[in-house]
Amino acid sequence: MRFSALLALLLAMCTTSFAQSDAAPSSSSMPALQRFSIDQVDKTLDPCSDFFQYACGKWIKANPIPADQGGWGTFNMLAIWNIAAVHNTLEEAAQPSANRTPVQQKVGDYFASCMDEDAINKAGLKPLQPELDRIAGIKKKSQLPEVIASIHLMIRPANLNFIDAAYQGVLFGVYSAPGFDDARVTLASLDQSGMALPGREFYLKDDAKSKEIRDKYVQHVARMLELSGESTPQAAKDSQSVMAIETELAKSAMDIIVRRDPKNLNNRMSLKQVQALTPSFNWKQYFAAMQAPPSPQYTVTAPDFLRGMEKLLQSRSLEEWQAYLRWSVLHSLASSLSQPFVEENFDFFGRTLGGTKELQPRWRRCSIYADIDLGEAVGQAYVAKYFPPENKQRMLDMVKAIETALGQDIDAATWMSDSTKKAAHVKLSAQIDKIGYPDHWRDYSAIEIKRDDFLGNVQRSSGFEIRRRIAKFGQPANRTEWDMTPPTVNAYEDPQHNTINFPAGILQPPFFDTSASEGNNYGAIGGVIGHEIIHGYDDQGRKFDAEGNLKDWWTAADAANYDQRDRCITDEYTQDVPEAGVKQNGKLSAGEDTADNGGLHIALAGLENTLKSQGKNLESPSGNGITELQNFFLSWANVWCGELRPEIARTAVMTQGHSLERYRVNNVVGNMPEFAHAFGCRAGQPMVHANACRVW
Ligand SMILES: [Zn+2]
Repeated sequence: MRFSALLALLLAMCTTSFAQSDAAPSSSSMPALQRFSIDQVDKTLDPCSDFFQYACGKWIKANPIPADQGGWGTFNMLAIWNIAAVHNTLEEAAQPSANRTPVQQKVGDYFASCMDEDAINKAGLKPLQPELDRIAGIKKKSQLPEVIASIHLMIRPANLNFIDAAYQGVLFGVYSAPGFDDARVTLASLDQSGMALPGREFYLKDDAKSKEIRDKYVQHVARMLELSGESTPQAAKDSQSVMAIETELAKSAMDIIVRRDPKNLNNRMSLKQVQALTPSFNWKQYFAAMQAPPSPQYTVTAPDFLRGMEKLLQSRSLEEWQAYLRWSVLHSLASSLSQPFVEENFDFFGRTLGGTKELQPRWRRCSIYADIDLGEAVGQAYVAKYFPPENKQRMLDMVKAIETALGQDIDAATWMSDSTKKAAHVKLSAQIDKIGYPDHWRDYSAIEIKRDDFLGNVQRSSGFEIRRRIAKFGQPANRTEWDMTPPTVNAYEDPQHNTINFPAGILQPPFFDTSASEGNNYGAIGGVIGHEIIHGYDDQGRKFDAEGNLKDWWTAADAANYDQRDRCITDEYTQDVPEAGVKQNGKLSAGEDTADNGGLHIALAGLENTLKSQGKNLESPSGNGITELQNFFLSWANVWCGELRPEIARTAVMTQGHSLERYRVNNVVGNMPEFAHAFGCRAGQPMVHANACRVW
């Protein structure tokens, strides 16, 4: 995936799961939108001893994780509401009628094809047979580039909408991204990939839990191959080959902490140099089969990975590669195949890896797939119905107020020199704020959507998306495009385009609520806005300049001051996480933790400025019996109310940059004297850190 910093990890929304035929909601039976309420606070507890428990304990008890989810919280509830909203628009579009617009026809027929489970089951593996035959027909390893290209053109490329354990590129990943040294031009990027487990640690760690997961994974691979027609002994043998190849890929892949420093990814090469790294893989052949235009240069994020790939290409037999490719195709498209594949896929990735008990209802999965595959077509009806233009203006006003607050924070910083402050201001004013949805909708008219061919629809829309990205090689950077679809409950910052992006999906209660107080909105969506703004100035973002170039604009002394402050955060978050059964590495989560801490600071300053302009202050009553300041902190906690199943929590702490919800609340407020003031906490209490960390 591109170098972007997200707000949240939404594993639960994305598990490729399968279905009971639960009745789908009609417009009249949409789930209720949750609004923040003071009643959910547990007043029997002391906010100064465990604020998360005080603010969220009652909520969590009243809202257990549903059987078809890997976690449950405020985010997921809104995501489910959005999917139900999207589903309403899809159902309408799916009704055959002469009045449908071309966009409705496309998304409606896609949805109808996905819902026709009988036809999908009846077709079985037949729609995938041409691809499996092509793999079976490989005569020599020199044909691999062409076959891998054909696979890359029919599976979903990595997408910020779904951080999906079940998605991985085959052998390697290919995408387009601004050059690290010159962000004006889009370059081809070649990245490590090809491992179906959620991270390289899953292949390399030696503890009992990791070994157990690997054993079950090999059994799962064998069962998928058996379902595709292999004999039991052949499938057992092939699953060992798959595991051996993926383990070797994991060994040569770059470590996640090393990967966090963008300079380690900035390896620019000519195609000739790429070719020299992997003499056994003909890149000209591969890119020709992808119909990719030449790229002025190629960013090879992990050269050691390509070196490892070369060794594997030499050492593994053609038969082993065929097993790996057959598995990769079945795995990547499992959720679009017949029921046995969907259920086997869910059994491992949903149940074993995610702790999820049940498949999501089919209508919901089909709505999610439509959003992933045709997002900006699906999003048009969603936005028209659920995101009024006045909300966009209100949101823009808040973003501006919080940016102003960061500007004031930069000016007040005692640890930065004037020259670094000046460069920081230049960067801040060059940032583009994108709210809700794109100004120009993506045109999907080139994709052929058939009402009776779900797998084909997924393959063709995936091919469209990968071709769209590849067509950008050598083109000028485009800062107006979106990497998330409108109904997504998430947000991201993109340092190479210097943008912050808030899809309409997160601009709903309890994040953004036009009927709620300023304190409520600044604590919830304001904290999210602050988080994304600060990503531009966290340990990764601060290395990119106003134009998105990886270029140092810090004096050596200021950078040293930054690192010292950053270390406080890193040490604080290197902590035991008992609910995940593993220890958190603060170096992995440093960027997200800095964004949470700094983001809430500037959101609070934005609130104070806004209240002042209205003749009020932080101690003003906010209408629900508490002050605006108390409301601010409770609203921040409220958006993180929820929990993950232990299996998901373990994966998240091991492989993702986000701290778990409890720590996103408690560690942050413990660093803020304003919190101690709001709730009358005293030195020595758990929510008052003796060594309070502060970068921004
Ligand atoms: Zn983030």
